[in-house]
Amino acid sequence: MTRRYNFCAGPAALPEAVLARAQDELLDYQGRGLSVMEMSHRSNEFVAIAEQTEADLRQLLGIPSNYKVLFLQGGASLQFAMLPMNLLGHGGSGNFIQTGIWGKKALTEAKRLGFRHHVAASSEASGHTKVPAQDALQISTDAAYLHYTSNETIGGLEFDYVPQAQRSDGADVPLVCDMSSNILSGPLDVSQFGVIYAGAQKNIGPAGLTLVVVRDDLLGSAPPTIPSLFDYQQLAEAGSMVNTPPTYAWYLAGLVFQWLKDDIGGLEAMDAINRRKAQKLYAAIDASELYSNPIALANRSRMNVPFVLDDARLDNAFLKEADEAGLLNLKGHRSVGGMRASLYNAVPEEAVDALIAFMADFEQRRG
Ligand code: PMP
Repeated sequence: MTRRYNFCAGPAALPEAVLARAQDELLDYQGRGLSVMEMSHRSNEFVAIAEQTEADLRQLLGIPSNYKVLFLQGGASLQFAMLPMNLLGHGGSGNFIQTGIWGKKALTEAKRLGFRHHVAASSEASGHTKVPAQDALQISTDAAYLHYTSNETIGGLEFDYVPQAQRSDGADVPLVCDMSSNILSGPLDVSQFGVIYAGAQKNIGPAGLTLVVVRDDLLGSAPPTIPSLFDYQQLAEAGSMVNTPPTYAWYLAGLVFQWLKDDIGGLEAMDAINRRKAQKLYAAIDASELYSNPIALANRSRMNVPFVLDDARLDNAFLKEADEAGLLNLKGHRSVGGMRASLYNAVPEEAVDALIAFMADFEQRRG
């Protein structure tokens, strides 16, 4: 068996130790004689897995007790719709900071459903290369929440600060953050947020699971006309089991959380590794004549590193030779082209070293 280095933006690399443990437990979970996939979600065994997973996540992120943790389906994209359904039940508008494609999708979905919306700031004029500054935010007087995307996975643009949202009357506006592509990459102060959400398939586990962390006071304002599966309050009351949850993905997320705690040593340690990985790749890009990345230094994503070759005719050769060298999935998103190396938690530092060595070699051979 040869496992190669996987730089996919998502579904992304999983820690090898997690896959090995899942393999070990696949047919017979801890002597129970069946797979986790075959268990009732209401069984004592699965309820124990579910509770341990939540407890480990709460410990890793330091989630305060006045927040609920939901394990849902539908991806981050369904949250684009569930958020306004749940948070605008008493009126008001969703305010959005626009820093790229995913933030735009979140706004477009709220718009499509007929909710009031307002662009509080946008980095579009800079080609989404620089995050808007705190003092550029214009919060509307009817703002019920401020939504932003802490890391734009396609553009490779990451916030270097947590926005503060206040209306002109001084009222605090709950902050809602799509953390799909940088959750768990480092420590976080959850108490600054009203809602945090993320699709699992980058730093949490396999696709099919969506994590939502929601502050208690934001529950209970969804209108009764929405499906019960979309109502945070009902989902929270049922422990995310209004219907059958994605049990196996939930279990795998639990293994990833244990790996983060026990093998990595927590989110501070993860943060240090991630910074090192990203810094060395950006340094290699900046030092080269062939590769470039346009993002403002302070906003360069630690998780997704897009770069272009100065001659796009070399792209195919680059990708082919990278693949042959055991470096997978470096092609940029179809909407922007070029390359993208995603350096999520499970991508080991050796993978980044191997990529840098390959890039230098490729450049030298073309030079
Ligand atoms: N938000 C961000 C920042 C993303 O990167 C993605 C997926 N790449 C999404 C939302 C959409 O996630 P999903 O496919 O889980 O709906």
